[in-house]
This record gives sequence, structure tokens and C-alpha cells, in this order.
Amino acid sequence: MDERIKLLKKYFGYDDFREGQEELTGSILNGTDTLGIMPTGAGKSICFQIPALLLEGITLVISPLISLMKDQVSTLNQAGIHAAFLNSSLTAGQYRLALSYAKEGRYKIIYVAPERLITEEFLEFALNTRISMVSVDEAHCVSQWGQDFRPSYLKIVEFLDRLPVRPVLSAFTATATREVIEDIIRILRLKAPTVKVTGFDRKNLYFAVETPKDKFEALKNYMQDYKDQSGIIYCLTRKVVEEVCDRLNREGVPVTRYHAGLSDAERKTNQEDFIYDRKPIMVATNAFGMGIDKSNVRFVIHYNMPKNIESYYQEAGRAGRDGESAFCILLYSGQDVITNQFFIENNNDNEELDPETLKAVKERDRERLKKMTFYCFTNECLRDYILRYFGEYGTNYCGNCSNCLTQFEESDVTDISMKLIGCVSQSRQRYGMGVIVDTVHGNKTAKLRQYHMDENEFYGSLAKEAVYRLRQVLNYLVLEDYLFLTNEEYSILKLTDKSWEVLEGKKEIIMKLAKEREISKKEKVKKSGLKKAAEKDARKTGNGKQNYEEADEVLFELLRKLRSDIAKEEKIPPYIVFSDKTLLELCLHMPLSEEDMLSISGIGRFKYDKYGERFMEAIKEYKEKAETD
Ligand code: ADP
Ligand code: ZN
Repeated sequence: MDERIKLLKKYFGYDDFREGQEELTGSILNGTDTLGIMPTGAGKSICFQIPALLLEGITLVISPLISLMKDQVSTLNQAGIHAAFLNSSLTAGQYRLALSYAKEGRYKIIYVAPERLITEEFLEFALNTRISMVSVDEAHCVSQWGQDFRPSYLKIVEFLDRLPVRPVLSAFTATATREVIEDIIRILRLKAPTVKVTGFDRKNLYFAVETPKDKFEALKNYMQDYKDQSGIIYCLTRKVVEEVCDRLNREGVPVTRYHAGLSDAERKTNQEDFIYDRKPIMVATNAFGMGIDKSNVRFVIHYNMPKNIESYYQEAGRAGRDGESAFCILLYSGQDVITNQFFIENNNDNEELDPETLKAVKERDRERLKKMTFYCFTNECLRDYILRYFGEYGTNYCGNCSNCLTQFEESDVTDISMKLIGCVSQSRQRYGMGVIVDTVHGNKTAKLRQYHMDENEFYGSLAKEAVYRLRQVLNYLVLEDYLFLTNEEYSILKLTDKSWEVLEGKKEIIMKLAKEREISKKEKVKKSGLKKAAEKDARKTGNGKQNYEEADEVLFELLRKLRSDIAKEEKIPPYIVFSDKTLLELCLHMPLSEEDMLSISGIGRFKYDKYGERFMEAIKEYKEKAETD
């Protein structure tokens, strides 16, 4: 058998490679520089960890965040692989001790912070050790184009130049834009690398957009169903984080919070509460999440629309890393666009940028915000929209997003369109969406009076339509090029060639509108992974579904409790003991022998030796009790 598969089974308990892993590990083992671009949760770590085990010397993994290193190192040690990290969370004494163990060759894999690389102490070690591979995690941090540029990443090249023999270099990221990929290859000087971009689709994630009148109510509703699960709620500002966290707390939801305004100590505590499932729900700004490997996050709710699709997909992608179903909901409101615009216009924090570049950056950011906003208004498959954004083609129908599950009907919006476009034309193409919508709706605002829009021919011509619907149609018109939205600080609506076809009555505009919003959606996400898996299995085995479901729920909770006890004893997060997926499989197959245990996904040799007995004991007890009842 392929040596790699043997190791995959032995240490990680998995039977097969996932997409990309075979090619990427193969390339590294051939001695070729390698760049892997895979979405969050796709399994990048295995791609360098397996070769690291097979290569003769040691592997250095460069990683940007302390929490990320800590998590990955404990996962490895749990699996029976000797690994360590070297970063500023260690005291000087601990650091020296770890380094001396490293010199003795105790570790196969060492995680190191980039700023440590060219320190004297570390170089002294590195120059006298056989380093077979340097692997750069979150490699987009070398690029100024990315969102997380880290100057310390530039030290990697300096470090490589100092080594007597150049090790094979591998790099990984979830960011797929062309500029970033080119930057990584150029800056890290990858030599004729194998570049593998795997599919960006995350089939186990359900996507939805909602526009509730009262966001907090909507959130509260979800929390009633899911407060015993782990999830992340993203907000745009610190203030909103505080507010939402407070209110959920008062509702008895086990939440904690994270944003840049908290002290280091509090951020650390809160993050750990979340990781260890003491407070399974995190309310946070986008400052939270990079390096969070928690595999059992079952939902990510965006309380506000983020600034672009890249951020959205990255944040939403923190759900369902274990491959079990999870859901991602975006709660949209018009105010979110305004807040994001404000951030873009006031973003002067990169002082190194000259005015020209700054202008270009802002333009790019506005364009990205526009595409994010369209996501909230499209009636097409949401997954498709995201995949197309990243340059992939979907199937137009995924069956697992709010649009695919909503029944639409075709609606003739020609009349509304004529009036909206007419209003833009009549006001000499000087205003943005807000003014146009307010005008046709006939709102009485000081701004409209000031612009004399209350004298516009179309003022109040669509007073009976809901403002939401007017925005929806207007967005559709922009999306389909019937109008053009400029890319400036204050975006203005302009006419296009296609506008005239509508104004002259030559074009009918038919749009898909939701019949009844969100019918079966909640039902759909409500099913826990356990129930779904149980149903599937029941169909296969012909077991009565009812009993099966009820019974398993109890066992699942028992095993969860056991996992949590072990996690406490070992002082590691529960999901590092076993993932949710592994617990699920244990419930379904109730293995009672070593062989059966080892056939469960996520149980390798080492973990079996450590925990196998205790889990079998629990299953056995449960089974006996069920039979006597
Ligand atoms: P990424 O770094 O790409 O976001 P991770 O490396 O953290 O993703 O992997 C995500 C999850 O998928 C982890 O729980 C990991 O154990 C699991 N995983 C990785 N490879 C496989 C595989 N071949 N089979 C099953 N699960 C896997
Ligand atoms: Zn879909």
C-alpha cells in the first residue's frame, strides 16, 4: 500500500485522501516546490504533515499566529506525532528547552513564527540541523494584495538564503486571487512549483441571506434552536459585538465576545472559552478567526454584511470543518452597506501607500463591496454566485442554499423599472440609490427637498411598493446593466445603452421574485448531522427510524460527555480528542472491537490506544442498558 495512506490511517484515522492531497503530498515528496490553494477546512495541514513524516530530516512550518500553532501542535501530539512550536508565547526558559529538544532530534515537525527565523538563537540551531522542508502556512501573508499582509513573512526568504542546503519549499493558502498567487510564487521564490487549486465548493455548508426587519429577533430565534451547538456570530463593529453579546447573555445564550478593543488577557480567555466549548458561541468582529481550527463549528451567522466576498467566504468557511453539515446565514440590511462605505473612505491606516495607490485600493474595495451587496440581492443560487466570483463554474442549482430552496415566481417589473430609470434620467443622473428610491416612494425628507426631488416627475409614483422591493428591482437593474452604478465615494446611478430600451418601452423586464420567503429553509437546517446520518443508515439497514433516532441522541450525548471529560483531563479542546464526525460514526456503528474501532473515520492507532477502551466501555454499557430496558 502507498506509504502515505498507511500514515494517514495510522496517525489520523482516515482512509483516503481528499481532493488535492494526493497530488500535493506527491509533489513535495518528489522534491518539487509546491503551492496548494484550498478553501478553509479542505485539509491543508495533512498536505505538509504527511510528507514531513516521510522525509528524513525535520520540517519547519511557518505560521503567523500563536493560537494556530498551538492548536496544530496539540493535534499532532494527540495523534502521536512529536511536534513543537517556537514563538513568543514561550518564556525564555521554555524556548531554550524546546530548542534543545529540537537539537536532540526529538521533533519531526517544528512550528515557528516568522520573526524568529533569523534570530541568532534559531539560526544557530537551523544551520546545524538537517531541514528537509520548509512549509509556509497562510502564505498569502507575504502579499500586499491580501488582507493580512505581514512584513515578518518577508524574513522567510532571508532565512532560506542563509541555509547551506535549500530545503524543498511548500506553501499553502485559501486565498485564490491571481495577484496573490503570483505574489506568493515571486516573493517566496518558489522554483518551478507544482500549483494545485482545488475546488472552492464546500458542499456541507448551507448558505442563506435574510433581510429581517428586526435582526436581533431573527438571531434570537436561531439561538433558541442552536444554543447547545458551537457557532460564530460576526458583527461589523465593536459596538455591535458588545450589544449583541449583552443581549444574548440576558437571553441565557452561552456567548462570549472578541474584538480588538479588549485587553490581550480577555481576548485570550474568551477565545479559550470558545475553543474548549465552555462558551460555545462567539460574538466577534473580523478580528477573530484566523487560526481557529475548531472543527465542530456548526454555524456562522453574519449579523452584518462583511466588506467583500473574500472575507465572507473565509469567515463563513469556519463552519463545518469536520465535513458535517453546517449553516451560514447572512442577515442583511441597507445600513451595512453604509457602514462598509464609511470604512473604505476612512481607511488610511496603511501609511506606506502613496496617494495614487491609496486611490486605487479604495476603488478596488468599492468594487468588491458592490459584488458583496449583489450577493444579498441575487435570486440565483448563492453557492454559484460565490464560486463564479472565485472563477469557478457551478451548476446553477445546488439545492442547499436559501435561493435554491425558495420558490420563485416570475414577476413583470417593467413598470417599476421604467419609473426608476425615468427618475434617474429626469434628475440628470446625479444621485445614488437612496435618493432615487426615496423619490419614487415619495418620502418626505429634508434631503429630497434640498435636491428638489419632490418636484421630480416620478416623485411618489411608486408609493404603493415596499421600499425593500424597490431596492431589489434597482439592484437587479444594476446587476443586468440596465443602469450603471459608479465606483466613487458616493456611488451615482447612470444610464446605459440598455436603459433606453426600457424607457422607450422596447424591453420587458421579468425578474424572479420570492413567492413566499424562506419556506422550508428552517426545517432544512434544523436537522442535526446526527439525525440525518441516522436516517440514512436506517434506510440502509431497515431499522425503525424512530427508535434509531431517539436512541442515538442519548448515546451521542453520552459520548460527548466522555469526550469532554477526557479533554479536561488532558487540558486540550474536546474536538482534538475526537471530531463531531467521529462521535457520529461511533453512534451509528457502535463498535465493540479493536478492529471495528479502527475502521471509524478519525480513529488512528495512537488514539485507539489512548481512548479506545473508554469509548467502547461507554458504548457497551449503553447497549446493555438499552437491551434490558
Ligand atoms: P485547512 O487548514 O485547509 O482549513 P485542516 O487541515 O484544518 O483544513 O483540515 C480540516 C479538517 O479536515 C480537519 O479536522 C482534518 O482532520 C480533516 N481532514 C483532513 N484531511 C482529511 C482526510 N483525508 N479525510 C478526512 N478528514 C480529513
Ligand atoms: Zn443554491
